[in-house]
Amino acid sequence: MVNSHATEHSAPVQEVFSSIQGEGLYAGHRQIFVRFAHCHLHCAYCDTPMTSASGQCEVETPPGSNQRVLYENPVSIETLLEIIHELRLYGAPHSISFTGGEPLLYHRFLSALLPRIQPVLPTYIETSGTQPELLKPVLPFVSIMAMDIKFPSATGEASLFEAHREFYELTRLHRETGLFIKLVVGPNALEAEWQAVEKIVSDPATPIFIQPVTDLVSRQVTVSASDLLRYQERLSRHFEHVRVLPQTHKMLAVL
Ligand code: SF4
Repeated sequence: MVNSHATEHSAPVQEVFSSIQGEGLYAGHRQIFVRFAHCHLHCAYCDTPMTSASGQCEVETPPGSNQRVLYENPVSIETLLEIIHELRLYGAPHSISFTGGEPLLYHRFLSALLPRIQPVLPTYIETSGTQPELLKPVLPFVSIMAMDIKFPSATGEASLFEAHREFYELTRLHRETGLFIKLVVGPNALEAEWQAVEKIVSDPATPIFIQPVTDLVSRQVTVSASDLLRYQERLSRHFEHVRVLPQTHKMLAVL
């Protein structure tokens, strides 16, 4: 099991850093990022290193310095709270992003940690949105949910639309959690995939971000402008807030 070293007291954390959010509804905001190791999916476009070379947790401090302090894994809640407390001193962070990998693999750890953070800093989860069974204990303590809907034409994986539908409905019903959707799309998105989005996202006011795949080698967006315009037109028939946004943190060359 990828999370066999995780408990409600500690979890394998790859890195913690303070940077600029590059995707979705809060692009441009300063955040603290906690990146967990490991994911249960294997998206073809994934650019996230799943384990650090040292196997230790790397904390960039001060932000932007490229200097890292190493902590032994798994990292305890108390240690992580100390690291977060230090990084809060930089840039007045808007919120704290738990990302990965897949952060909900560490649902027991998060359900113990988030209640201690949310009173002082909004909590933000970046998730594949595919494991509704792991969500329930964490959801009451999530301020913002950035949920993917995975297109098989881009991931190369099997359809996960039914799991997405359950995940979306659970989150939508928890009114205290702000929810938006991210669609990573390639040049060959299928009509059936757009139809699936319409079935999953039952509230047309939910913000949706179309994010073109960035080539892992050339670092260039792989979807043409005409396709992106067509995709936006397609979704705008049903949804009120459809935006197209590449990964802006890569343009800024920040973590
Ligand atoms: S869900 Fe995210 S972290 Fe996991 S393989 Fe896909 S892109 Fe990578």
